[in-house]
Amino acid sequence: MDCLRFKLYTPTGIFKNPLSIKGVEVYPLPPYSTIIGLIYKTMGKKWNKEHFQISIQGDYEAIYRDYVWFKKYNLRDRKLGKLPLQVPILYNLKLLIHIIAENEFLDQIEKALKEPKEVPFLSGGEHPVKVEEVKKVACEKKRISEEDYITLGYNAYIPKKHLENISTTDKGILFNLSYFYKNSNKPKTYHWIDTYYFQKGAKIYGSLMFDDDKNPVFLTDSDSDILGEKEQSDQKGYNESQICHSSNANEYIRFYSENWLMASACVGVLKVLKKQGEKIENFVEEKTLKIPKDMWEKLPEAYADYLLNDSEHVLITSYGKEKDKKKFNPYNVVILKSLGDFYKNSPFTNPSLSYITKLRGLSISDINNVKSKVKESFIEGYQYFLTKVIETSQVCFFCHERQAKNIVDATNFTPLFSSLNTVKNFIWDPIHICKECEFLLYFASAGFYKSQGKYLFVYIPDNLLETYRLNLVLSTEEEVEQDKLGKIWSVVKHVLGLEKQKRSWILQNIYFVEIEMVDESTANIYSFNISPTLAKAIRNLINKYPKNLQSVFSDFLFYIYTGKSLYEFLLLLISGFIKKESYKNLEIRTIESRIIQTGKKLDYLSKNVLFFIEFQEVLNMSEQKNYIDWAFWEGKKLKGFYTKDPNKEKKLEPLIYRLLEAIRRKDKGYFIHNLIRAYLEVEREIPYVIKESLDDKNFNMIAYAFLIGLNSEEKTEEAQVKNEENITESA
Ligand SMILES: [Zn+2]
Repeated sequence: MDCLRFKLYTPTGIFKNPLSIKGVEVYPLPPYSTIIGLIYKTMGKKWNKEHFQISIQGDYEAIYRDYVWFKKYNLRDRKLGKLPLQVPILYNLKLLIHIIAENEFLDQIEKALKEPKEVPFLSGGEHPVKVEEVKKVACEKKRISEEDYITLGYNAYIPKKHLENISTTDKGILFNLSYFYKNSNKPKTYHWIDTYYFQKGAKIYGSLMFDDDKNPVFLTDSDSDILGEKEQSDQKGYNESQICHSSNANEYIRFYSENWLMASACVGVLKVLKKQGEKIENFVEEKTLKIPKDMWEKLPEAYADYLLNDSEHVLITSYGKEKDKKKFNPYNVVILKSLGDFYKNSPFTNPSLSYITKLRGLSISDINNVKSKVKESFIEGYQYFLTKVIETSQVCFFCHERQAKNIVDATNFTPLFSSLNTVKNFIWDPIHICKECEFLLYFASAGFYKSQGKYLFVYIPDNLLETYRLNLVLSTEEEVEQDKLGKIWSVVKHVLGLEKQKRSWILQNIYFVEIEMVDESTANIYSFNISPTLAKAIRNLINKYPKNLQSVFSDFLFYIYTGKSLYEFLLLLISGFIKKESYKNLEIRTIESRIIQTGKKLDYLSKNVLFFIEFQEVLNMSEQKNYIDWAFWEGKKLKGFYTKDPNKEKKLEPLIYRLLEAIRRKDKGYFIHNLIRAYLEVEREIPYVIKESLDDKNFNMIAYAFLIGLNSEEKTEEAQVKNEENITESA
């Protein structure tokens, strides 16, 4: 079988699906629809219902987190608002694509890729894509036995169906990816296919397809299969498939935690069900939440109970505080307070709705009566919510299966969406939603953990149950660890305690979403994840974190979570230590001043400070980590030469100052110049490792390790205890 193979290269890429909420979520490889779009671009034509099979593999050098500004246009104020979002960007991305189509069409594609009619870009990237090695290759199927397994040389999308005939040592991450258009006119709709993402290095065997050069090929199904099946179920529509089929689809309402927003809503529902005494494992399958129909009908009531749970105290205190008892409204105290930030002016929170205003002035004397009245109003709110529908023939954007009955707006999730009347979004078309998914979104509030006006959620894209569990860790951790970093650390610590394989898997895939309300209807949304290299560094090194530097542990976490260089951290710490005098009057107001302060308190630098260099070099994927110890010992040796001779000893301090200055300025020349003089002074030859610091990628590693060595002491046990005591007292 002939197949067209080509490679794509781009220096940067961000891949979003139409569904990826505000770009917070990205894919490790472009989804099928992106590559299909690129092919049509090069052909200079529009999609005309053609279909072909496609296989996508790729690799990238690093992920960078960067800020991207998203724009919102406020029609009322005629103002362009901007929202900064941190998104991961894939750096130096290489893709290996295979396509199978009818011969004539394949020839057209080949020609277009070799001589494109339009310069191709990949979504989000600033640079044109380079198309390389466009070539027809023969593909054939082979059976690979378990002993002869192959190792993936690229990260790969493997369509779910293939896994019936393939075995792997790894568990992939399930993605629901956009494929060909179902409808290319506005509003565009896609076919979606379930695909697993496998990281390179995974071992696989079974029935596999290979090209001439022994590259495995993981094609999507031929169009007749997949589209036939999809089309059918779509045409039958929601009602028929719910009523006529006797399968499970009948008994359950399903939700897919495809993005963090849906995942937080699913976690919220699970928390509510748990409170009802349910066994939540029964409702989760990978990343699908399935709620039995009868239970779904009782969910509004269960949610009201959940929100009203333990509300006596807050009701009584706020009643006490209210000067004008006629104005007291228990509904607002309980429900609006919980849901107001996320669902402004919704049927459940708009304080001017009659079933909410009627509770004004209710006396608190019979607390159970108050609670049942609030619950009644909440249920009325649900009834009113059900009546808010619009006419549309679209399928729901969130579940891809039920008929949409509404369009998402600010009431559904205020931090993300805006009101269609006042603000028009530049970045997405109207998002259609079914009533089930819409109600589900109201549970996101229960899914997030709220602390000091900020909301935090942990998300593992492929595993809803684990996402639920980690969020429980987040919300049950003692209140002592109030700050956000402590919270996140408690989750990472929990993960580190898990069984080995699971642990490394989760650490690589976990990420955190933080929502900070700016005012009533605006919010900043941040997301950060633990990259595979950060996961590796945490796993291997965290136990070596210097015990005497506990007071800046959360600052260390801040640096690594936000991708700041630990060399900047070290510069502060060492500057504090070396230039104690100049920081005499330092006030501790910032992270930076806290690190300097900690350095100030050290009596000497010990070898354990090298931890920060090692950690950073694991993140930098450095191959020369042996230089760290080497440079440290050379620094220590040089100090020995100086301190042996009282005449030379006094020259050590000025040398240390100059080296620190060289490091601060990143001035390699000045650094080396000073060391040449220093080694001349002690009549020694300059060590080889110092010369290696001339290489840009080694400079920080060698210079810092050397400087730490130059400031270290022969540590007696006594001195070490004293050093640690000083720090603990101040912590
Ligand atoms: Zn839906």
